[in-house]
Amino acid sequence: MVNPNPSFETPAALQRVPDAGRRRVVVVGAGIVGLSCALWLQRAGHAVTVCDPAPPLPGVAYESAASFGNSCTIAYGAVLPVAMPGILTAVPRMLSDRDGPLSLFWGDVPGLLPWLWSFIRASRPSEVRRITSVLGRLVRLTAAGLEPLIEQAGLQALVRRTGCLYVYRTEAQFEAAQANLQMRAEQGVRMQVLQAAQLREEEPGLQPEYARAVRFLDTCSLDDPHHFMMGLAQDFLSRGGSVVQAAVEAVTRQGAARVATSGGRALAQGDLVVIAAGAHSRLLAAGLGDRIRLDAERGYHVLFPEDGNRLNSPVCDPEFGFYLTPLGEGLRAAGTVELGGLGKAMRPHRIAMIERVSRRLVKDLGPAGRTWLGFRPSMPDSLPVIGRSPSDPQVIHAFGHGHVGLTLGGITGRLVAELASGLPPSMDLTPFAAHRF
Ligand SMILES: Cc1cc2nc3c(=O)[nH]c(=O)nc-3n(C[C@H](O)[C@H](O)[C@H](O)COP(=O)(O)OP(=O)(O)OC[C@H]3O[C@@H](n4cnc5c(N)ncnc54)[C@H](O)[C@@H]3O)c2cc1C
Repeated sequence: MVNPNPSFETPAALQRVPDAGRRRVVVVGAGIVGLSCALWLQRAGHAVTVCDPAPPLPGVAYESAASFGNSCTIAYGAVLPVAMPGILTAVPRMLSDRDGPLSLFWGDVPGLLPWLWSFIRASRPSEVRRITSVLGRLVRLTAAGLEPLIEQAGLQALVRRTGCLYVYRTEAQFEAAQANLQMRAEQGVRMQVLQAAQLREEEPGLQPEYARAVRFLDTCSLDDPHHFMMGLAQDFLSRGGSVVQAAVEAVTRQGAARVATSGGRALAQGDLVVIAAGAHSRLLAAGLGDRIRLDAERGYHVLFPEDGNRLNSPVCDPEFGFYLTPLGEGLRAAGTVELGGLGKAMRPHRIAMIERVSRRLVKDLGPAGRTWLGFRPSMPDSLPVIGRSPSDPQVIHAFGHGHVGLTLGGITGRLVAELASGLPPSMDLTPFAAHRF
């Protein structure tokens, strides 16, 4: 990295295991988390097979993965949980605003109650302080988890190192954000405040209505997330990894081995299995006996294919809850939260809202193109699950990264490789325990 933030941590290089410690590992899921686990396990010397019905390989549709359609930011400022103090009073206001960042399927509320209850409990000030310090540590380790994978796969050209902007229309909105910005600064997040004139100079494509902005200096973005994921998968294959293109229905024991099965048929067998199937991980974990408070937060994107040059860096107006990210393929407006689990179709009025608001924020946008719905794998406390299954120590869980999986996938892979190799993990994994709720 150019001028890395001095607060970033650099753990000792991952040791390769001696031949006797080499394990066969099956990784379930080829999103950013699964592929990062696979690559770090490989670097540690293990023999790795990845199973996924739709991996990022040429000719395979990859759109169902959250890693395909996100806002593409490697968000070095993302140290705050989603559930912040005051969220309980903010939610009704957000739900009543059709252009607001949050929506839900009311019929699903009874089923969501345990998740919502834990979410509200996570917003207590003492919890927010604890979670922020854990996320801060993870984010300070993020470069150590992601950059070696980017370099090894030769993907540096797909990473834009421009920082990203949070923009505020009024001084009052900027003032209201101060406490949160201060909490980020305390975790080593580097920021620069921009006045209106400077913002207009740096982002002339934005409507000139903004009074202030904050640039998160270390944040990067991907030029093309699909090619980025394909590059990681190719790198994995070129180093001897194998991919089985099929969905795992269950992970079962066969003596000392663990087998990933589909329709009772073995897809792959290993000494260890890593479950990294994003929002689909809850069912796989439940099959082992682990009841995990994981749910899906639906998020959308709208692509403006003619407008990739309209902005110089990703921009977010926090009031609307989505980013506008310039990519090689166009300008992607991606984000918002919709509670409603897996399986339901896209809601056209949410897409219309993102398109309408994007046109309000950016000048002269051309026609909208592809629209997308994806599923964030979300835990109520915004912390992922990383660690051994309480029901089966030969299974490692790696999921639940919510809004920041692209950012935290790399370090998660590194932590999983350390665990699989019997090495002390680069940070304490207790906050990520599967059964913490
Ligand atoms: C709109 C939106 C914007 C976002 N913006 C950002 C951002 O800017 N920065 C950031 O850091 N994060 C962002 N995120 C979050 C990030 O995209 C996710 O946290 C991350 O992609 C999760 O990665 P994953 O590997 O856990 O899951 P996924 O990417 O969903 O991958 C899971 C994989 O598992 C596979 N799978 C599912 N079931 C099975 C099975 N039974 N057997 C085998 N394989 C299976 C799927 O096919 C898929 O390939 C955003 C998310 C959304 C939705």
